[in-house]
Amino acid sequence: MRINAARSALGSPIPLPSDGSASRCRFLIDLVLLVAGLYLHIPFCSQRCSYCDFYFVTTRSSHTSFVEALCVEIEHYAATYAAQEPVETIYFGGGTPSLLTIDEVQRILDTIDLHFDTSNVLETTFELNPEDVDHTYLVQLRGLGVDRLSIGIQSFFADDLAFMNRSHTPEEAAAIVPMARAAGFENLSVDLIFGLPDQPLEYWGANLQRAIQLEVPHLSTYGLTVEERTPLARQVARGLVRPPDEEVMRERYQLTLDVLRGAGYEAYEISSFARPGFRAVHNRRYWEHANYLGFGPSAHSFWWKGLPARRWSNIRNLRRYEALIAQRLQPLDLNEHLDLDDLADEYLMLRLRTSEGLDLDAYETRYGVDLLVSRVEELARLEANGLIEPVRTHVRLTDAGRHLCDHITARLLADPD
Ligand code: SF4
Repeated sequence: MRINAARSALGSPIPLPSDGSASRCRFLIDLVLLVAGLYLHIPFCSQRCSYCDFYFVTTRSSHTSFVEALCVEIEHYAATYAAQEPVETIYFGGGTPSLLTIDEVQRILDTIDLHFDTSNVLETTFELNPEDVDHTYLVQLRGLGVDRLSIGIQSFFADDLAFMNRSHTPEEAAAIVPMARAAGFENLSVDLIFGLPDQPLEYWGANLQRAIQLEVPHLSTYGLTVEERTPLARQVARGLVRPPDEEVMRERYQLTLDVLRGAGYEAYEISSFARPGFRAVHNRRYWEHANYLGFGPSAHSFWWKGLPARRWSNIRNLRRYEALIAQRLQPLDLNEHLDLDDLADEYLMLRLRTSEGLDLDAYETRYGVDLLVSRVEELARLEANGLIEPVRTHVRLTDAGRHLCDHITARLLADPD
């Protein structure tokens, strides 16, 4: 694959972070993974799921102008970033990537191939909804090099799907996994949601068992949350729906751990479960503070080559996104610079979500924080309360701690004074 280091016509390339002046940062260059992840946000959905606060539009109009804008944005970022790191992962998320035609997916992948070094890509993931695709679509997708599917099933029960305003049926949910396998996809992930009001515990257990029976090698399970400005939030505000109950959530999450571990899945992150060899490579990047570039409205990017690191996001408005790209302007929303203290806090939060936990030596080397000095008393309290495993080389949550991950993170980040 070719690397095109030519300058884009899209105005000035985004400035790189400085080389970093803090001496401890010199270690970072060697330790941070020197490969990039690319995220493509495809902002179309056929209808609005009641709980969802991702950015999307439900227009039925053509996607052509969006795909063209996306390709211009890819080319623009490549002018600054492509020569720095080859690409390790590509992720089509949204929104609903499976509303794109195969030609549109190919156009996007061709643009990436043209402008980035994709000769060592380990994983190309594509999110899809069960009702959008057929065997032919999946075979063609596989032919384009997509090798992992993330399928938005959420539940195999009709009343759950109706409550969430999902647009597929239980039959479509059950059919998609064998269909994907028949099209050549072995690396499959299914999303499921627990904690729906009035959803019996047995329903949740049956959802997990259904996924196990289908031999799905990776599951992402999420507790229902009430996000602002969603239809669900309005239902809760009007008293039509009870908000999720903490004890119910705890019970369902524990069932998830027990059932999936019993079936041979590793609980390798709070929400992520994999059979051996099927952990998500792209998501790992987020938990390891590796670099990634996001394209499309609302997509986030993170780049750390020296201090400060930089995080930015695109605006959440498709029309404005396309208009700004057409004017050769960057469609930026958030744009922040992160110093080593910011990065250290964030890394602790990310690592506590993983089964490996926080490596104390690496934390001191990469971020300059010796937790055994700065938070020794808090660690002892957490350990005495059974929320973290005995601290030796790592800080890892116990199962009791997993239920309180956010709380524990906040306690470790709190100013000891
Ligand atoms: S959950 Fe997925 S399919 Fe549903 S509205 Fe959100 S992005 Fe679209």
